[in-house]
Amino acid sequence: MTFNFDPRAIARSLYAGEFRPMFIGGRWIGARSDEVLAVTDPASGQPLASVPRGGAADIDDAVKAARAAFEGEWSTFTPYDRQCLLLRIADMFEERWNELCVSDTLDMGLPLARTLGNRRRVIGMLRFYAGQATALHGDTISNSVSNDIVTFTRREPVGVVGAIIPWNAPTAASIWKIAPALATGCTVVLKPSEEAPLTPLLIAKIMQEAGTPDGVVNVVTGTGAEAGAALASHPDVNKIVFTGSTATGQTIARAGVDNLKHVSLELGGKSPMIICRDADLEKAVPTAAMAVYAHSGQICIAGSRLFVDRAIHGEFLERLAAYAEGLRLGHGLDSDTDLGPLINAPQAAKVETYIASARSEGAELVTGGARLAGAAYDGGNFIAPTVFGGVRDEMTIAREEIFGPVISAMPFDTLDEAVTRANATPYGLAAGVFTRDLGTAHKMVKRLKAGSVWVNMYHAIDPAVPFGGVKMSGYGREGGTEHVGEYLETKAVWIQT
Ligand code: NAD
Repeated sequence: MTFNFDPRAIARSLYAGEFRPMFIGGRWIGARSDEVLAVTDPASGQPLASVPRGGAADIDDAVKAARAAFEGEWSTFTPYDRQCLLLRIADMFEERWNELCVSDTLDMGLPLARTLGNRRRVIGMLRFYAGQATALHGDTISNSVSNDIVTFTRREPVGVVGAIIPWNAPTAASIWKIAPALATGCTVVLKPSEEAPLTPLLIAKIMQEAGTPDGVVNVVTGTGAEAGAALASHPDVNKIVFTGSTATGQTIARAGVDNLKHVSLELGGKSPMIICRDADLEKAVPTAAMAVYAHSGQICIAGSRLFVDRAIHGEFLERLAAYAEGLRLGHGLDSDTDLGPLINAPQAAKVETYIASARSEGAELVTGGARLAGAAYDGGNFIAPTVFGGVRDEMTIAREEIFGPVISAMPFDTLDEAVTRANATPYGLAAGVFTRDLGTAHKMVKRLKAGSVWVNMYHAIDPAVPFGGVKMSGYGREGGTEHVGEYLETKAVWIQT
């Protein structure tokens, strides 16, 4: 892919190691103490900027600002006003899309060609929810006991929403939480990941320039243990929307109990990809590879458990290994990069530990399995795309979310066995099936326990289609019309005529 702009020039203009304040009540706020968090480029280790290490007092300020906006100016906005605001933000995202994508790539390493490709997921989401803003409605209900009573429902915004997001898709994760909140009339306090806080701050700036009233969107930077925990337990936050690991999701759900917050959780996964013997291998091989390698494995929906019909297992693994070996790793801003780095050294070390566990538990390394060395990889954390064969269901790499570029391939003999084994996980975020048989596809779709099932494709996300998990992958959905309801309360109204 070639870019028709200079990504490195944009990168230099965006971040030169300076301090970036957080955004509370329409003002840019510095750190209360000397404590700042350094943000580095995961591909090179070079410093990008530093941000405040916000804590409970900053979260409290932000929640107060969000509450004041919710009760004040923002409550005077009509649905049409909110729609116009979202559309204005969407237009500004169009104008500044290259800048946002370069920022996203610098924040978390994903190749620019991929961040640029997220346009529909992000700007489409803003426009989708702009449409929803003027489509909110309650019901008129025929009262069952009296003809002289009129009963109807009103849908009202839940109030102040705390949004806590991970580092692996800062732009998309921010917008997927802010857009429905603005559409429904809620206000937001966003706590980005400490690993990737810069793009959410850039988004706040664009929203401010688009005319978002003060306090409607606030961004507090900081760690999970400090700012995140303070937001999750704040008594004046009405709802928490969280994307991140299952363990943190459980902590957040517990923290919300005291004031009975609404909580929705988009959590981890260990998704199965099932390749039937009649699959179109031309499509299935690259799709199965990129189902894991796309974000260097750092994606919740990674189809990391690869079940392949024994009849084609050998050929499939050979082709998969050849594909993996052809992928170019490098800096995300380079146009010929297919895969970027892992987010930081601890994440790379964690992946290496999983690779070592696979070897010691008897899996066969088909390709990859090592860090990349050499000048091009200095300062970054690059692990070669890896395939293990001969994996058994009970092995650690087949059970735990690795969040790295590691595929665990396992043969199966019958479709019934494949579905049973695919479902034998505490997670239920996504699943993939490759088959040319429509009947097989429908049977598998029905039986697979997952929030999304892709057939003859993978990794597609659309603003109009609900996304989310079952079991330990969480509850609640993002996208689709039902998502709007998660930001609304229902008020029943009775009128005696
Ligand atoms: P994480 O759970 O460590 O952190 C996510 C966010 O929670 C960060 O902002 C962090 O600062 C904050 N946090 C941490 N501890 C907290 C606490 N005690 N209270 C409040 N906030 C806290 O996850 P991560 O490492 O940033 O991201 C990777 C995980 O996210 C993986 O498990 C992945 O599957 C999951 N994920 C899920 C989806 C989805 O849509 N289901 C999407 C992307 C990532």
